[in-house]
Amino acid sequence: ETPILEVRDLVKHYPVKAASPFDRRRLVVRAVDGVSLTIGKGRTLGLVGESGCGKSTLGKTIVRLEKATSGSVVYEGEDFLKAGGGHLRALRRDLQIIFQDPYASLNPRMSVEQILEEPFDIHGTLSGEPRRKRVRELLEAVGLPASHATRYPHEFSGGQRQRIGIARAIALNPKLIVCDEPVSALDVSIQSQVLNLLKRLQREMGLSYLFIAHGLAAVKHISDDIGVMYLGKLVEKAPKSRLFAAPAHPYTQALISAIPIPDPTRRSQRIVLEGDVPSPIRPPSGCRFHTRCPKASSLGTLCSRVEPRTLTLAPGHEVACHLYDPAVAPAAAEPAHV
Ligand code: SF4
Ligand code: MG
Repeated sequence: ETPILEVRDLVKHYPVKAASPFDRRRLVVRAVDGVSLTIGKGRTLGLVGESGCGKSTLGKTIVRLEKATSGSVVYEGEDFLKAGGGHLRALRRDLQIIFQDPYASLNPRMSVEQILEEPFDIHGTLSGEPRRKRVRELLEAVGLPASHATRYPHEFSGGQRQRIGIARAIALNPKLIVCDEPVSALDVSIQSQVLNLLKRLQREMGLSYLFIAHGLAAVKHISDDIGVMYLGKLVEKAPKSRLFAAPAHPYTQALISAIPIPDPTRRSQRIVLEGDVPSPIRPPSGCRFHTRCPKASSLGTLCSRVEPRTLTLAPGHEVACHLYDPAVAPAAAEPAHV
């Protein structure tokens, strides 16, 4: 199966000022630190991780809202990050993004009609009556009455505003949409409606999604594949059913154990991680997870000294952890289990 998008060794570092005005060091946030992933055509890759792990930065860098430090994003056989001019404009139509806070991303002084006409202004693809007709179609496609076109963002609920954000993202018939926590800010009762809308549009338009969320519960239903990020690194990636049945990385195992199970008779042991996520300015040596990993001590000092390489455990199932590497941890190598 051909991927629609392939991210290769993507790095995004950005400079920050030290907290004290007397501190002249130039600090660098290693937000995304060498991430490789593929997204299948018509599929959804869920990407999870705690706040500050770099998942939003990764999403924005992929669609070039942020400038990559290095690496490539291969789309239609070429590096999207190197495209320029009119060709870049054409490619930008195909790769869209929707955000967590639809209110912040919609201009309050523009009517819905103006908001939805903007992509056509930028790309010069439609004007006049055909454009107005297309705007009404877009509203109906996301479940809003066409008669609401003259209203302003503040006249809509949070869920409706996210529908407007989605309408704008699909206006130019994209191929892939980065969904950056699109339902996290919505009431739980509204979340599934917006998720169902995204699924329906995916079927109808053949869309592929990179779906970013805080926890595994949020991506469980929408994803085909799931990637887990920790401090700028992708630590595990697998088809969804495989990830839940046989999570390999200790961090993934902890995230899964944190999902509440509705059935109280089912045995569940919550793995509680010690400490906070370390700073991406000075990430821990070796495996970045070693300061919080419940398994690290079983490997002596290996985890704090040596960065684990990415291993393939099964088709599409990759993990970066010494526990599964027979070359460095022969005694400790163990099969994946829950
Ligand atoms: Fe834990 Fe070591 Fe595996 Fe990192 S490499 S996840 S510290 S066992
Ligand atoms: Mg974010």
